Amino acid sequence: MARTVRAAVCFAPREPLEVIEVELQDPGPGEVLVRFLASGLCHSDLHALEGTIDERFPLVAGHEAIGDVVAVGDGVRDFRAGDRVMAFLVPDCGTCPFCQSGRTNFCRQFPARRQNPRTVFAYRGQPLQSFMGIGSFAEMAVVPADQLVKVNPEARVDQACCIGCGVTTGIGAVLNSARVPPGASVAVFGVGGVGLSVVKGAKLAGAGPIIAIDRNPARRDVALAAGATHFILANGGEDPVAQVMAITGLGADFAFECVGLPELAAQALAATNPCWGMAVNVGLMPAGARLSAVPFHLLTGRHWTGSFMGGAKRADVARYVDMFVAGEFHLDDLVTHRLSLDEINRGFAMMRSGEAVRSVILF
Ligand SMILES: [Zn+2]
Ligand SMILES: [Zn+2]
Repeated sequence: MARTVRAAVCFAPREPLEVIEVELQDPGPGEVLVRFLASGLCHSDLHALEGTIDERFPLVAGHEAIGDVVAVGDGVRDFRAGDRVMAFLVPDCGTCPFCQSGRTNFCRQFPARRQNPRTVFAYRGQPLQSFMGIGSFAEMAVVPADQLVKVNPEARVDQACCIGCGVTTGIGAVLNSARVPPGASVAVFGVGGVGLSVVKGAKLAGAGPIIAIDRNPARRDVALAAGATHFILANGGEDPVAQVMAITGLGADFAFECVGLPELAAQALAATNPCWGMAVNVGLMPAGARLSAVPFHLLTGRHWTGSFMGGAKRADVARYVDMFVAGEFHLDDLVTHRLSLDEINRGFAMMRSGEAVRSVILF
């Protein structure tokens, strides 16, 4: 029995979202019907809506979400009605070489589902795509069970929803991908939602100094509150790479690019220690982007790598939620705006202007 839910639908790239009633089908085998409580506005949603990453339209975006299970389809054993769950972008089939590697979870189902997406929403007979199989800019959605994880119901949903993507991407990049040790120096290029989470991860790791770099002067206070020891304003004046060198002496042990700009990734690489520095690309770059670097920067021994979704499995998300509930890190600085679904276009406008660090839709 299909149901009608309110959803923010984007009918074509760069068009404003329309909040309308759409049809949502029942959960099929291996699928779960989730009623969302909160959904963060992530930069990947903006990239999808602007058409800079390959997406099909019409599209229900939204993927950084927490909610409750309403019903499960055939064969779903891990969830039942009433469970508090978080959505996760990367599937976790458990059987492919990546899921079994124990090191990464770039599950093979991720590209497979991107190529052959199933549709669960429809509007006037027209199927609507769900971004990354989730589509949480809707009151309810049907999500594959292996893209959900049961989480601590004590976590306040307006902040915890961000652990589903931005926070895990940032903290995971530090703890899982780069494995930053205590005392290491860390430079973070771009302190939006993900960059701030990298700062939090660096603080959890016991790193220091932690240098935040951003062109928005308003990010200074939030970066310092999140655990940064230094802030560099990249306003076209003094070269941020030279400033990182001045603070660290030899260059940062680790540098994280958190915006998704190829030239910023090259700066991050140049700002690392020439012999053992590691630069980590975290920001999602536009389709077709290419990286370039000074070859000598690699010849001396620097490492240049990347981190997708913090190298995390969905179980890591549940662990980070527990750490959040235990007070090991806070998200007061991250979530700056709480909006209704009807205000979603304002949320994206504030993301573009930099006014919001993270806006969250509360259902
Ligand atoms: Zn995201
Ligand atoms: Zn897999």
